[in-house]
Amino acid sequence: MSVCDFSLDHVRSIAPYQPGKPIAELARELGLEESGIVKLASNENPLGPSPKGLKAAQDSLKEISLYPDGAGFTLKSALCRKFNVTQQNIVLGNGSNDVLDMAARAFLGANTSAVYAQHAFAVYPIATLTVGAKGIEVPAINYGHDLAAMRGAIRDDTRVVWIANPNNPTGTFLSWTEIEAFLKDVPSHVLVVLDEAYGEYLPPVERFNTVSWLSRYPNLLIVRTFSKAYGLAGLRVGYGLGHPDVIDLLNRVRHPFNVNLPALAAAEAALSDEDFLEQSYRVNQSGMKQLQLGLDALGIKHVPSRGNFLLAKVGDAARLNKELLKRGVIVRPVGNYGLPEFLRVSIGLEAQNARFLDALKACL
Ligand SMILES: *Cc1c(COP(=O)(O)O)cnc(C)c1O
Repeated sequence: MSVCDFSLDHVRSIAPYQPGKPIAELARELGLEESGIVKLASNENPLGPSPKGLKAAQDSLKEISLYPDGAGFTLKSALCRKFNVTQQNIVLGNGSNDVLDMAARAFLGANTSAVYAQHAFAVYPIATLTVGAKGIEVPAINYGHDLAAMRGAIRDDTRVVWIANPNNPTGTFLSWTEIEAFLKDVPSHVLVVLDEAYGEYLPPVERFNTVSWLSRYPNLLIVRTFSKAYGLAGLRVGYGLGHPDVIDLLNRVRHPFNVNLPALAAAEAALSDEDFLEQSYRVNQSGMKQLQLGLDALGIKHVPSRGNFLLAKVGDAARLNKELLKRGVIVRPVGNYGLPEFLRVSIGLEAQNARFLDALKACL
């Protein structure tokens, strides 16, 4: 008899999150220099961190003997100014995953269910199952969310619907008109979590201020992150925007001091780093074109993506992934997302994208 025999059934049913392979790990395995490895596996910003964010994090280090501000007042103040909301509309997270987890712990549990799409972000089933709720996975349509089917899947015991727009790992995008129609249609007792981790990568014509919906839909929780376009993935900071009553509930389950001191400082500074955001967007646009053209030239199909990554249909993805690793290129196999024929490739700098395309060509 082992202690694990008494662990919770619903915990044993969780498929662990599979992160991208760290550069240092592959370097050790191959006996290579880390500089010889290209990692396009975790949708990180290839430009590095926002310089303003980096400077603020560095300057904050002399204060790390102190606890951070548990309420995150100055970061929230900056968010208030940017989005024209109040402190009561904001919850801060140790990465936006932390906010997703808070939503699960506040609204889900035994005898409740949550709805999410097939091929949607892996944290939605993890957060749902962790608290003993039932996960209802709705088949995808063209690799993306089928909102009509998701509406149909909502049951009396459904408390949360998870939506990523754009979605990871597929890069699919729903128009804001479709999302608002869904919000209008969803029963008001169901929390709609709208995860906009890649919103900053949308072309300007497709950007929409979803924050303007908060006054109309008190059951909407918008979740955003500093991990992608702001380049602060390693610091772990994200936030949720919602109705004050929803935010109050999330704050009750939030761990004290969940966002660390350098992260608070960096996020506040990065928020006003418009130049960096613009540069991140442009590098992503050109890298996306480069990868699309490169894949086209190799006769490899890909799913149209609005994120900073691309899903390429390579066939035997497990084999190709191994071959790419041998050549020092780390991408993300997505068999665990029900997509065994695909590799997800994050958009890198021009030379990194070229390195991936060359390696892929050599493996085919
Ligand atoms: C990367 C990503 C996040 C961000 O996670 P953090 O915890 O903020 O680093 C959230 N949602 C989706 C869909 C993502 O792909």
